Amino acid sequence: MARTDDDSWDITESVGATALGVAMARANETASDSPLFTDPYAQMFLDAATARGWHPPTGVMSRRIRAIGNYAASRTKWFDEFFVAAGAAGIRQAVILAAGLDARAWRLPWIQDTVVFEIDQPLVLQFKQEVLAAHQVTSKARYVPVAVDLRQDWPKALEDAGFDITEPTAWSVEGLLPYLPADAQDRLFERITAMSARDSRIGVEAFSADFFSEDHLARRRERLEQMRAEAIEAGESAEDMPDPAQLWFNEDRPYVPEWLSEHCWDVSALPAEDLMARYHRALPADTTEGTMPTEFVEGVLADKFSQ
Ligand code: SAM
Repeated sequence: MARTDDDSWDITESVGATALGVAMARANETASDSPLFTDPYAQMFLDAATARGWHPPTGVMSRRIRAIGNYAASRTKWFDEFFVAAGAAGIRQAVILAAGLDARAWRLPWIQDTVVFEIDQPLVLQFKQEVLAAHQVTSKARYVPVAVDLRQDWPKALEDAGFDITEPTAWSVEGLLPYLPADAQDRLFERITAMSARDSRIGVEAFSADFFSEDHLARRRERLEQMRAEAIEAGESAEDMPDPAQLWFNEDRPYVPEWLSEHCWDVSALPAEDLMARYHRALPADTTEGTMPTEFVEGVLADKFSQ
């Protein structure tokens, strides 16, 4: 489905279904022999979506989700540790942007009196709350869903929901940026910076400077075509292998670590392959040149007015 500037979706549609793909990876990791984390809610979400008529990926697509499982697990673990460290440093306000089926608000050992805001599309958050309520799952934190599109005036919705602009905040941006137009990405980071008190932290899954270049996108398309051909050879349908890039806004945009350091954040960036090596996790077999096109960026906000 082609993207439009004001499109919206339910959990089983368009960008919403990508959250189910991530939940599938988390459920696989949880069921594995030596998981990096456990997420008992991921399978609940998948079961509930299936009951609503969603068809879990099969064949080549489910193999693809398994192939990127090590990456998805390392990413989940990195953001888990990001929030735990923020709590240990005294931060009691967290905002999970594009939360999807992220269950950290329920999984993590939040320090008492922590408030966790989650932002995503209304139907996505509604689905999530219905599933958790049906299983009587409660959060150790004070959980506040904020149902709003991140291309709209989400700062107002967040403040209306009780966000305290004077308190340091831990923000996460995971699995989101390609789904935002370039100008919405710029606005997102400008708004986060404007709403962040000193010592706030940000964790971002960021994309390489050339991620949206025609060259890189062409290489991805080529790999996808190869996978489709293999699927057909194995007697499977190539229709089962949609191109995730069709849901992206393939527009050039600022390189996140640079943008953040230019806007008062003290930044460190960890290439995805280094993170995965830290966790003894192998790269997907089709990774070219031993590198992944993402990195994990952590920022701490210095004094905004001293520069
Ligand atoms: N961060 C979650 C995780 O890692 O499990 C979900 C990642 S999923 C790949 C992408 C999520 O971004 C979906 O839940 C989708 O609804 C959300 N999303 C994408 N664009 C959005 C927008 N403009 N406004 C609100 N949510 C958005």
